[in-house]
Amino acid sequence: MGQIVGIDLGTTNSEVAAIIDGKPQLMPNERGKFLTPSIVGFTETGELLVGEPAKNQAVANPERTVTSVKRLMGTDRRIVVGEKEFTPQEISAVILKKLKLDAETYLGSVVDEAVITVPAYFTDAQRQATKDAGEIAGFKVERIINEPTAAALAYGFDKTGEAKTILVYDLGGGTFDVSIIRLVEGAFKVLATTGNNNLGGDDFDYRIVDYLAARFKEKEKIDLRNIPDVSQQRAILQRLKEAAENAKIDLSSLLETEINLPFIYTEAEEPLHLHEVLTRAKYEELVTDLVSQTEQPIQLALSDANLSPGDIDAVILVGGMTRTPLVQRLVREQLDKDPLKDINPEECVAIGAAIQAGIKRGSLEEFVVVDVAPFTLGIETEGDKFSTVIPRNTAIPCSRKSLYRTTTDFQTEALIHVLQGESQVASENESLGEFILSGITPAPKGESLVEVSFDYDVNGIVKITAKDRKTGASRSITIKASKKRLSAEEVTLAQRDVSKYTGSMLVQREKSKVLLEAENTLKELLQLIRQGEKKEKRIDDLELAKLGDLANQFKQALKEEELEALEGLIEKATNLIADYSY
Ligand code: AMP
Repeated sequence: MGQIVGIDLGTTNSEVAAIIDGKPQLMPNERGKFLTPSIVGFTETGELLVGEPAKNQAVANPERTVTSVKRLMGTDRRIVVGEKEFTPQEISAVILKKLKLDAETYLGSVVDEAVITVPAYFTDAQRQATKDAGEIAGFKVERIINEPTAAALAYGFDKTGEAKTILVYDLGGGTFDVSIIRLVEGAFKVLATTGNNNLGGDDFDYRIVDYLAARFKEKEKIDLRNIPDVSQQRAILQRLKEAAENAKIDLSSLLETEINLPFIYTEAEEPLHLHEVLTRAKYEELVTDLVSQTEQPIQLALSDANLSPGDIDAVILVGGMTRTPLVQRLVREQLDKDPLKDINPEECVAIGAAIQAGIKRGSLEEFVVVDVAPFTLGIETEGDKFSTVIPRNTAIPCSRKSLYRTTTDFQTEALIHVLQGESQVASENESLGEFILSGITPAPKGESLVEVSFDYDVNGIVKITAKDRKTGASRSITIKASKKRLSAEEVTLAQRDVSKYTGSMLVQREKSKVLLEAENTLKELLQLIRQGEKKEKRIDDLELAKLGDLANQFKQALKEEELEALEGLIEKATNLIADYSY
């Protein structure tokens, strides 16, 4: 049996962790980093890039770069790259496959099972799509767990003795979740969960993009969001988005930041440059309504759990966006409490997933996790009404049955339309799918009873069955599979497609390894030169000039990613550094 890992498949970054020697640990990628950008790219020649190399080429090659695919999970959207078309599941699978390779390299053994996290507010279709992505990547997906629950597990891992009520505020790249979790002697019980599937860091970035474009238009009379040439437009937006994200991140620690985008546009052969100074105050003004949108879910979660802010013992912040001072202020004001400082908001979700993986494998027997259904589930009844079968925040797994009477005389078929949402009006909720129960015993209206059962599993995925109560025997049920789901054959086909890229990923890994080694050797070389210049080491001027020349060759080869040249340079520099270490 292979190993099991926990994966945080994020909108912006993803991480992989496992239980190693009884403790949850993140595993580094081939560049030695824990955070892998959730970005997939293809070079002009069709070579696949995942993670950092894909991020590095995003500006130069926006048409062939896929970012924030998590936002498309559970939709029917196709992602077109060159002549190829991908489902969101396939792109996510490529990211998962890379994390699998990273984990296998680190652990030195096969990894074949995974616990993957999703936002608590992910719908059934989004969860199913995530599970499919895991399977396409070659994992048996042991469990899909909610990100805030995973964060609470990471927090509670070494605090099993204390009873605590924890509020997790999770604002990531694309989604927002709040969960309230009660921790008693190793049992994690989710009391309530709320959120917004369409609110995250990307929205903040776009506010800055709009601001920069508006300023540029004022000055240069050119709208950077409305450039006629499509490929030029894409490249400009990509540069603006990247600059906006960097500015946003800077403003978490600085009071102002400079944004410089030289040669952003050329008009009548005259290059135009974008230069702006953005203050934290201005940024906060641009995004204050976005931050305020997180207030209502906090209040709703508290009221669903029958708690007041004073009942919360600890507040955990999850997701890179929670480093924003305005976000931290809002949380403090709403809950009258300082959030915990010792939890890493980007890392705790993967750690929690690894703990859940450990629980599954039986290596961490002392923990129990009970999660809840984030939405109300039910079916449509006559007159566009919504009939609840499982109310939101019901502990899962659970099974519920509801009985419905036939509505027309001698009805032999019934259309069961399953929905999720909080509205009494069926059409205002989200449709999960529908199926026809046929073979109902013909009888005057209201006399035949149809029993509908909902089975909600621990992954938050629902199975619905219906049967004719009158005969007692279950009848044939035709389920119209939701368009969004992949069939077993589609998963197998996608598996084959994604496997084709494994070779390309391995080549990329080797390349990344050389680049990393080259960067580290260059650092050592530059340090040696500094020591020589400061006379801390005796290196004569001629030698110093030679070392400087070598460093320049290194920089050039690194820029051009000339692997063979780099390998030669690494050897030469390593020998020289060794010579001077005596
Ligand atoms: P996640 O993938 O959940 O960690 O969230 C990623 C989001 O957090 C992205 O929108 C990032 O731009 C954003 N982010 C990362 N670091 C920071 C920071 N220091 N300040 C503000 N936002 C950040």
